[in-house]
Order: sequence, then C-alpha cells, then structure tokens
Amino acid sequence: MPKRERAAKRATNLLDTFSEKRGRGRPPLVRASELRGRADHYRFIFNQIWDRLWPRLSQAQEDQEVIDAFVKDAQPYAPNFMPGLANLVFRIVREAKFPRTRDAQISFLADSLAGLGSVSPRSSRDICQKERTREKRAHHIIRYEVYVECSCGFKGRSLNLACRKCGAEIDFGLSGLTPFS
Ligand SMILES: [Zn+2]
Repeated sequence: MPKRERAAKRATNLLDTFSEKRGRGRPPLVRASELRGRADHYRFIFNQIWDRLWPRLSQAQEDQEVIDAFVKDAQPYAPNFMPGLANLVFRIVREAKFPRTRDAQISFLADSLAGLGSVSPRSSRDICQKERTREKRAHHIIRYEVYVECSCGFKGRSLNLACRKCGAEIDFGLSGLTPFS
C-alpha cells in the first residue's frame, strides 16, 4: 500500500478508536506524522460541513451546546468528535486568536484538534506546521523528461526518456556498461 494511503488508514483507525483510549491514564504517545495526517483528515471533514456547523457552533456557551451543534449540523461526522472532544473544541473556538474567515477557521480548528488534547492546541498546531514544512523539504523527483533532438527529425520533450515520435531510447553514455542496450 502506498505510504499516503497507509497514513490515511492509520488516521481513520485512530478516529474510530481514540475515544476508548482517552481517559485519565497516561496520555497516548503523540506521533507527529499521525497527528498531521489526522489534521488533514479533519480539514477535509470540516470543509464538508463548516457552512452548516459554524453558525450554531459559534454560539455555543458550554460543552453540551458544542455537542448539540455537531449532532445537528455535522453529520455523518459527529461521532468522530463527540462527545470526547467537546470541551477541547469549545476551548479552541473561543481562543482570542481564532480566525475570522472560513478556510482559516477550518485549518485552525483541525490542526489544534489533531493532538486530541494529549498535547495543547498550540503544540498541535506547531507540530502540524513543522510536519508540513518537513514533508515539503523531503519532496523528490519521481519522473523526469528531457529535451531531445532525434535523427528521425523530432525535436522536443522526450516521452518515457525516449523519442516521442519514433521511440528511440536516449543513450545516457552508459551503453557500454548496461546489458540492456
Ligand atoms: Zn526519433
């Protein structure tokens, strides 16, 4: 399974099971990559439901009203969050720096919430940010093509490192070294 899918699956599993793990005992180990994967998943979910959810959620005065908002306006996703994360959601949306615009609100809540309270909302956001930066740096080339001029007359970008017109393969000067050419 590709890495990205594996991560998504892990996040989904966590979503299904975190409420059982939450309790007064030792907090679960926070893994940055999982936390970030969960944040992305939450962003996706909130993006589906935010226009319904936010009007009521923004009016909540206590945990129970947060739960009510999710139950009424965040289906079918409410069980992913409620009731286990009600107080955390309540505290996050009341932070002084909670953003004013839709997309920023979604990102802020998702990233803050992804730590599931085992780290502070602030730390959770920091971890997400660092993970995103790290992943960007870790990007690498997965495919490349080059400009070719072929004896068949074709000039332009190669296709699968061969002439786009006649299929002649590019000789990178290793022909003496490889048994395939
Ligand atoms: Zn050619």
